[in-house]
Amino acid sequence: MRLAEPVTLTIALPHDSTEGETPSASVVPLIPLNRIDWPAPSVYRSASGEPGPAYWQQRADYRLSVTLDTTAKRVSGTVRIRYTNNSPDTLRFVWLQLDQNLYRTGSKGSALFSQESRWGVRGFAGGDELSAVTVDGESVTPHVDDTMMRLDLPHPLPPRGAQATIAMAYRFNVPEHGSDRMGRDKTLYEVAQWYPRMAVYDDVRGWNTDPYLGQGEFYLEYGDIDYDITAPAGYTIAGSGVLQNADEVLSATQRERLVRAATSSDQVAIITRAEAQATPAAGTKTWRFRAEHVRDVAWAGAPDFRWEATSWNGILCQAYFQHDRTKGSWDKGAEMTRWTIRTYSELFFPYPYPQATSVAGPVGGMEYPMFVMVEYGSNGDPNTVFGTIDHEHGHEWYPMLVGSNERRYAWQDEGFNTYINGFSNERRYPGTNAYDSALDDWHRVVAAGFDAPLMTAPDQLDPPALGAIGYDKPALALLTLRNHVLGAETFDLAFREYTRRWAFKHPTPGDFFRTIENVSGRDLGWFWRSWWYSTDKLDLALTKVEMRAMGAEREVMLEVSRQTDVIFPVEVRVKYEDGSVEDLAFPAEAWGRGVTVHLSAPARGRVVGARLWPDASVPDWNAANDVWGDAPNADARLPVTIPKSGARR
Ligand SMILES: [Zn+2]
Repeated sequence: MRLAEPVTLTIALPHDSTEGETPSASVVPLIPLNRIDWPAPSVYRSASGEPGPAYWQQRADYRLSVTLDTTAKRVSGTVRIRYTNNSPDTLRFVWLQLDQNLYRTGSKGSALFSQESRWGVRGFAGGDELSAVTVDGESVTPHVDDTMMRLDLPHPLPPRGAQATIAMAYRFNVPEHGSDRMGRDKTLYEVAQWYPRMAVYDDVRGWNTDPYLGQGEFYLEYGDIDYDITAPAGYTIAGSGVLQNADEVLSATQRERLVRAATSSDQVAIITRAEAQATPAAGTKTWRFRAEHVRDVAWAGAPDFRWEATSWNGILCQAYFQHDRTKGSWDKGAEMTRWTIRTYSELFFPYPYPQATSVAGPVGGMEYPMFVMVEYGSNGDPNTVFGTIDHEHGHEWYPMLVGSNERRYAWQDEGFNTYINGFSNERRYPGTNAYDSALDDWHRVVAAGFDAPLMTAPDQLDPPALGAIGYDKPALALLTLRNHVLGAETFDLAFREYTRRWAFKHPTPGDFFRTIENVSGRDLGWFWRSWWYSTDKLDLALTKVEMRAMGAEREVMLEVSRQTDVIFPVEVRVKYEDGSVEDLAFPAEAWGRGVTVHLSAPARGRVVGARLWPDASVPDWNAANDVWGDAPNADARLPVTIPKSGARR
């Protein structure tokens, strides 16, 4: 999902003032260094953070066949799910998700979000209508609770590989505004959350039945999905997966252009601007797609798409957009898609799918496997479009590849994605600093009283806080951990290892924390506690600086005290009488001694001034108590720098 517009608040930013106050009163003397014990390791999840020797997850393969009726503005058809129970448990019932029920009158989501808000249903009355629901051919009665549906199985489903086939017919009216995750605009349709999907059954919570309220995203099983869309003949359909019947739906010229695009690093027009204006044909056409190793599929259709494509490393990178709506800002949409896929493949993990598609439409920014919906860019600014294409395709890594539970932990997808977006932005726009937006947005929301621990479920956040807590604060925490605690090389290795270990799997927060600790060889309980489990802010104060004689040598003694329960490695820049400066560093373990610590180091002259944080990117909340005497200046925030290439398989 795209980050919301920055919250506009007329409150002074504490880090810009010299009178900032730290919003935390009590300071606990000794707990901050204690390790955190995560849920106990098991045969399913190892203490090292790896999937355990008996790790399992369910599998859901789908066969969908639907018709898009652009007169009734409705999708109707059938779904057949082959569900594989790989768990060690016998299942007597299963849960499915009916996301379209968010648009049923009286739904939980419609009661929680105001009608006109981003997630509001805007008075639309919709919802899934089901019929002929069967399991292995036997009729069953659905038990529907808001957006969740339980099916009681006619026969228990045995553990370790047994399969059941769930089938039904369904239809729903397509909302114009689908909570900014789907919708339509005149003849353009962006279709997602469009079929009954299996809820995840895992070793942590059993069935994950958190309802879809609009703000929290998704948690889905992996499988292969075959789907066909029957649409008016003049429509072009773009979707997740690979088109299976190009010979039936594309002209010979278009097919020839696609072949060329598949090996070209330049954009090739598959449907030119002139061709996109062609008058619609009568009748219908059926488009067939297949997507493998995916947790979802989505698609879009319009009668007047321009279609551009290029490729990188054998991956087809595509953009579909209506010329008049996009005002030139999408002309390089396929190149932007290619840029993104290439960048994250080189820096983090190889892109796992054969194609990547970006579609321009009314949805501000939303991600699906191989397929993203991005705003029209009707302000004519291609950089805005790039920012959203880059963010949405970044989600192909988190959560499409690394399938975390988005509905409970926004930081594990939006946060990780915002973190990697910083590198992409610095690469595309030299001089950009990943810290800037992360620090500023977080400060604004804290100042407005919306702060929350990162572990807060997105549905429990005030909507104005989602951007800061779900996106910027976790990105800031990861940048801080990388650049000031572990070092770039170690953190990059650990983060890539997490991605490799949990590709196509379901990691929990503990699996991430354990992986980072095991790869880096550090106990980071103090760091997770501060950022993930509390709203305390880092606020260290430099309270005293003294010179001492050590025989013929001199040393400088620094008294530093923490104003909150947040600890951090201490970095100090001292200034000598002759104007020269020296940077000193002390590990976080210094805080094992208490709230106020005395740190000393050899001094090469008389110290006349000192300051905490030679690098201004350390997120210390209160700058006013960081300096002593004739304090030296801090460096400007340094760029985060590109991690060394070395994506891991
Ligand atoms: Zn997002």
